[in-house]
Amino acid sequence: MNKLSNILKNCEELFNVKILKHATPDHSMSSSVTTATSSQTKSKRLTPDEKREIYLHYGKEGLSISKEFLKQIALGEAPFCTYPWKRLDIVSGDNRTKVCSDFPTRLPVFNWPTTEDFHNENNMWNHPFMQYMRQNMGTTSAVPYCDLCVRANKRSPKNFDWRDTARSETKKIFTKIESERIAKSYRGCVNKELVNSYNELLWKQRSTVPFHRSIDEYRKQIWINNLHNSGSLLQIGVKKPAYSIFLAEANENLDIADFSKDRLKLAANTLEHFGLSTSQHHLNGSGKLPFADSSFNAVWIDGEIIYSANREFLFSELRRILKPNSRLHVNRAFSVGELLRRFLNAPTNLSGCEVTANMSADNNWARQGEDILQWQADCVRSPHFDELELPRDANQKNSGRQFDAIAARSALICGQHYSQPGNFFYADSVRRVLRKLGVTLDVIKGISVNRLPTSALSKLSLAFLANDHELTAALKQYGEQNPYTHASLATYSAFISFNAIVNKETQKKVPST
Ligand code: SF4
Repeated sequence: MNKLSNILKNCEELFNVKILKHATPDHSMSSSVTTATSSQTKSKRLTPDEKREIYLHYGKEGLSISKEFLKQIALGEAPFCTYPWKRLDIVSGDNRTKVCSDFPTRLPVFNWPTTEDFHNENNMWNHPFMQYMRQNMGTTSAVPYCDLCVRANKRSPKNFDWRDTARSETKKIFTKIESERIAKSYRGCVNKELVNSYNELLWKQRSTVPFHRSIDEYRKQIWINNLHNSGSLLQIGVKKPAYSIFLAEANENLDIADFSKDRLKLAANTLEHFGLSTSQHHLNGSGKLPFADSSFNAVWIDGEIIYSANREFLFSELRRILKPNSRLHVNRAFSVGELLRRFLNAPTNLSGCEVTANMSADNNWARQGEDILQWQADCVRSPHFDELELPRDANQKNSGRQFDAIAARSALICGQHYSQPGNFFYADSVRRVLRKLGVTLDVIKGISVNRLPTSALSKLSLAFLANDHELTAALKQYGEQNPYTHASLATYSAFISFNAIVNKETQKKVPST
């Protein structure tokens, strides 16, 4: 009560007004809040003229008061904000979220799977930061930005410095609470020391390290794709063992599967380093996935696997092994930009295309893709397949890149028309393709744009591309990019990630395959 009296006294001095009626902040609202309450003192409804008069009177520079509280002050009430109980908006366009018109931290950037998830009472609405803000509103521990807002005019140029400090301090509080919240949802098997020691250990043996991002970023990826505490989760494609670690940390039961024994071994070793274990499954590339019907609640699949497998067959298998309303997360499926990069990056793409021409690759590659990929897996080992696997000599690397260029060119010309290996997604086709495969698209995650190299080699490739009429004609399907320049080519999306709900119960029954 003392705190409140002080605030009211300060307000009287600050705003040079006599507070007639003390509005009591209702802290019962602070605990486990689910919706806005109306327990605030009801204010008299003002006419537009009265409002205008108040704004003119109290909005003057000298009074230094945030406009949100003009009405309360005019009515003789203590400034007390109820926005955190009432508002939680998503600002379309720049993906910001906010509780009031001018809250600085944009709580947090909107990267929840759906708006429904965001507003779910277990998620943002009852986010610990929202609770913290509500509980401390009007006290000396108020969020710094709200403190400024209640005590002064947060928009006044005079308060710019205060505003900056309040903004960064508020962000710090948010970041701390958010990290703690995410860490609590996991088993806590991963820490910085373990990550650094493992990166160092592997750095000596291989050209790349498994952990490129911070622990918080990995955990956030798992969290926003709703892949935590799934019950039973299958990871298909373990080229990036870092994901296996964080998926295993967030799920009691994780199975991992891959076509490559080397990659499975690396993932298993990595998990062991962190004291985690999983069941491993080697996929032999033919026949059904080695799992019983309705075995999993969620599947995380590397987009590269989709590129190198028969898409129709793979999705029918995923439908079979997933329970009703399960979640499928496709991580970085190949799109036009990535294939273009592979084509333009090949060291000898001229000879690559000669080979392609000899193969009449228009249809052959897509139709006979399985054989070629088998050959690729067994002999050439294309570079993107085994960054973390055993070192190869220069000849093998060049052959791998050349094969990549051939495969990429063929896929761009005809891949997406087929369900066989070598097909890919592009932004406009995801919805259509998934509908055809009987899978419901939930959300398309950020589409990453291609970053094409600017080396002399790529300039040579660019000149070569200009003479490849077949490929340039095919590329027109995905956008008008003529004449080709590095800038225009870089606008093709490189990877597409998306979430889908599989075996959605409200949907028509999927015919058995
Ligand atoms: S900054 Fe805080 S106190 Fe000010 S209106 Fe927004 S939520 Fe309310």
